Amino acid sequence: MPIYPRLKNRNMEPPGGWIYRDLDTGMWTASKKNIDDLIAQCIAHRRANDLPIPSDFAQKIETSLAFSVSPELAIDLPDDRKIGPRAITLYHVNKATNAYLLGWRLKAGMAKVDGDEALGRAETCASCKFNNRTLCLTCNGADQWIGAWTGRRSKFDPVLGVCEQDGIILYATLHSKHPPHPLNGVFPAFCWKAEMAASALEPAAAQ
Ligand code: SF4
Repeated sequence: MPIYPRLKNRNMEPPGGWIYRDLDTGMWTASKKNIDDLIAQCIAHRRANDLPIPSDFAQKIETSLAFSVSPELAIDLPDDRKIGPRAITLYHVNKATNAYLLGWRLKAGMAKVDGDEALGRAETCASCKFNNRTLCLTCNGADQWIGAWTGRRSKFDPVLGVCEQDGIILYATLHSKHPPHPLNGVFPAFCWKAEMAASALEPAAAQ
């Protein structure tokens, strides 16, 4: 009887979101609701592609999520499982990006800037030294995950990575009116986030 690593709290959204990549079609599926909705979508995807549904398909989906989160958030992981520096970095980036997306939805109702403004932001980031591209966002499914939230793409997406100043995947913030917060330093003066972050901090500073 195989042991399937699981999420410690099945109802808590993982930092990277409810996502799963079908190994036969290579397609990513994302749910904004919960793991059961993700599983239902994944089953529908396989049915639509005339693929069989393994009897342990639901467990495999949860296992893939269990391997994508910090070990403290999973149970029944193999004893020899180690997380390398790259995975830890990915974990923190996913966590920061997920927190930002949730804040955008809860505090700003997913309000977006217009397409031209988003394009101008993307162009600025593309040539910024804080645009860190060491993680492959396409390999990690981040582009699919975030695309499901924003519903938008830009021609600069392939050259955009993570902003080193807030640790968030850039195309999660490009279209948003919700201000980010710097974590590691300050946004440079030419950065479109600088004014947004400053105005977001003003009420707190005035209290
Ligand atoms: S500092 Fe500003 S311009 Fe530079 S990558 Fe981050 S968001 Fe883009």
